[in-house]
Amino acid sequence: MSGRGRIYAWGHSRRFNSYSDYFRGKFGGRVQKLALDAGFTCPNRDGSKGKGGCTFCNNDAFNPSYCHPSLSVSEQLKLGIDFLGRRYRGLSGYLAYFQAYSNTYAPLNKLIDLYEEALSFPGIKGLIIGTRPDCIDNEKLDYFAGLSEKFYIAIEYGVESCYDKTLARINRGHDFRVSTEAIRETAGRGIKTGAHFIFGLPGETIEEMLDEARVISQLPLSTVKFHQLQVIKGTPIEKEFREDPSAFVFFSYEQYVEFFITFLERLNPSIVVERFTGEAPPGLLAEKRWDMKRTEAIVRHVEQRLEELETWQGRLY
Ligand code: SF4
Repeated sequence: MSGRGRIYAWGHSRRFNSYSDYFRGKFGGRVQKLALDAGFTCPNRDGSKGKGGCTFCNNDAFNPSYCHPSLSVSEQLKLGIDFLGRRYRGLSGYLAYFQAYSNTYAPLNKLIDLYEEALSFPGIKGLIIGTRPDCIDNEKLDYFAGLSEKFYIAIEYGVESCYDKTLARINRGHDFRVSTEAIRETAGRGIKTGAHFIFGLPGETIEEMLDEARVISQLPLSTVKFHQLQVIKGTPIEKEFREDPSAFVFFSYEQYVEFFITFLERLNPSIVVERFTGEAPPGLLAEKRWDMKRTEAIVRHVEQRLEELETWQGRLY
């Protein structure tokens, strides 16, 4: 059966398993994420795993204006709620999103203070915690498992690529096995588990990127985020790109949409897709490749193409 009116495996009629509908189903209305910068660092920058960081990384590219580590968690949440509450009416609640750097990279007692400050703030329904897969251990996971009996708790791992050759090339400081182990340990405790991937990292072919759908589909992930590679000014990958652009698959916008649809067709339909693309501020981009489009417009375009092609997430899974 195809066409309008069909209800897919994920329980609604959109042609992919969308994050906003997943949250609507969970919370009965729109829930907004509030990004926080709680002053963490990163072991791939401070020398404990590596120096210089991942070659694509500039965390400043992704921090909204209201989050700054000089402010407490509560102060950032208040500013964020004031800002987003004006922009979106009728929200059902918020999730505190520990976003900047590696948000489990500290002793557990320090983490507990920060997380519980967020969870006690009015309107906060849970936590989303972005981190590296090598910054988690059984003690922290057991703590999150306990919290997730009362709150929505999700751990989001930066995985970036399923290929060790790529992870070495981007100076990631861990291999793919570390990611799969962290994902399995987290999901095995009943904690929502997310992962982030980048398409277009140096040395990867389109076929290799598409084959990641098969690998990702076998992981016990609740949610995934994908970004096209954005070359940010001043990062090591900018230098690599200038020296050898032929090592990169740089999609045009139209190529990326078609690529992403092929990828989606191969992706396990039970995995919720949060993002298709990234949106760094244009002023930070070393290479302006796409006319800037809002995320919502890109989602609409992908959905329109899915409909034209009579296809959907997981059709070829
Ligand atoms: S991408 Fe994440 S892990 Fe890599 S250097 Fe940046 S903060 Fe650290």
